[in-house]
Amino acid sequence: MPFTLPDLAYAESALEPVIDAKTMAIHRTKHHQAYVDNLNKALDGQAEYSAWTLDQVCEQLGSIPETIRAAVRNNGGGHWNHSFFWAMLAPKGQGGAPSTDLAAAIGASFGSFDAFKKAVQDAGLKRFGSGWVWLVRRRDGSLAVSSTPNQDNPLMKGFVDNAGTPLLGVDVWEHAYYLSYQNRRADYLAAIWEIVNWNDVNRRFAATSA
Ligand code: MN
Repeated sequence: MPFTLPDLAYAESALEPVIDAKTMAIHRTKHHQAYVDNLNKALDGQAEYSAWTLDQVCEQLGSIPETIRAAVRNNGGGHWNHSFFWAMLAPKGQGGAPSTDLAAAIGASFGSFDAFKKAVQDAGLKRFGSGWVWLVRRRDGSLAVSSTPNQDNPLMKGFVDNAGTPLLGVDVWEHAYYLSYQNRRADYLAAIWEIVNWNDVNRRFAATSA
């Protein structure tokens, strides 16, 4: 603490044309920065939580005093989700491919890789208003596609369906895609596969298999 905006591993323009540079700049330095600032503000003077990691903030949301819990939920979730999202994206051609183990687990859970992508697409389109769609490794080891509203995420057990470890997540707030896609969330969701950093997803999957 205080929490800070993480560095990007690639240039703001590196995800074009799937995500344009202006969207990246505004999304990261305005929206994400605001979540960081407001999380720090909410936790200011709360010495008990000063050593907590961002993961702990999300996982132990129920231990946060009710007076600040909503602010911590929205902004701690916002900080976690965006930090995750930037790392889970990579310039086209640089993200690798699903590992053999992950591909097998996806096939076993969803029937096929295309069926998995369709589940993500459907969950993203069904999310009314703002939120996220996730590939989650649940506590029993199974995989699920689910969606959370606002800045909630699967780490927030007791607050969300399908709690577990997020492996892949897509921001479906309009601020994530509006400049390039306007109202066409489906097109954004279809294009995002071109810039998934599978190396990062594989690493997270392997860590939950250990
Ligand atoms: Mn966002």
